Amino acid sequence: MGLLSGKTALITGASKGIGRAIAIRYAQEGANVAFTYLSSVEKGQALENELAAFGIKAKGYRSDASDFKAAEELVNAVVADFGALDILINNAGITRDNLLMRMTEEAWDEVIGVNLKSCFNTVKAATRTMMKAKAGSIINITSVVGIKGNAGQANYAASKSGIIGFTKSVALELGSRNIRSNAVAPGFIETEMTGVLDEKTVQGWRDAIPMKRGGQPEEVANACVFLGSDMSSYISGQVLQVDGAMLT
Ligand code: NAP
Repeated sequence: MGLLSGKTALITGASKGIGRAIAIRYAQEGANVAFTYLSSVEKGQALENELAAFGIKAKGYRSDASDFKAAEELVNAVVADFGALDILINNAGITRDNLLMRMTEEAWDEVIGVNLKSCFNTVKAATRTMMKAKAGSIINITSVVGIKGNAGQANYAASKSGIIGFTKSVALELGSRNIRSNAVAPGFIETEMTGVLDEKTVQGWRDAIPMKRGGQPEEVANACVFLGSDMSSYISGQVLQVDGAMLT
């Protein structure tokens, strides 16, 4: 019996990186996994087969997290296909970094849309099912940047701070329905998103972290297993940093 046996989870943006690691850890713990992708179609389809090999039900959906109507259709499809929705993980995210002076309106809107509005979209659609079930765990992936801010990432930091305010508000509104809402704030996690950076910069970041290394996607996924499972049944409204004490 896994920690998530019998539960159905929806994970956005699971074709690579942290979302992919969450999907795999969830399948290992016995959860049925619905997940989304947008541009990485082949990777998304390959993941569906990889997850099914764990003996759980798995299905990938191509869906744009920033699109309100698409999110509603997605959640309806997941509930129809799986018959339940117990855990919702908003992981889909992008960066469009630039100094404020050079940041375009499009770069602002795109990041707020994919990172922040996406959480509103899926949570709004999923709460109907969760309220009926009188149970649910919502996990939104924020970032240490949403707590501290970061030069060159005003749009990203704003989206991630927004996620924290949203997460806490949902915890306050839906706590009486036994729906929990928490955020996970990764520090520097080594994925494709960070793989595009030059090695010297990356080493500098590693050196500045008290644990002297970047985190692995699986280490964020493990925090999501905890928050999705009944092990965290009285934990809601929290921001769990997974950052090797980077922001301490
Ligand atoms: P990644 O490797 O770039 O993966 C991002 C995922 O999001 C991909 O699966 C991508 O799917 C999906 N995605 C992007 N736009 C989407 C959209 N409009 N609709 C649906 N899916 C979309 O990034 P990552 O490093 O794993 O980051 C995952 C999350 O953790 C993000 O929210 C990020 O902000 C957060 N985070 C990461 C770090 C880090 O150090 N890596 C630190 C703090 C927080 P497609 O490729 O199919 O489009």
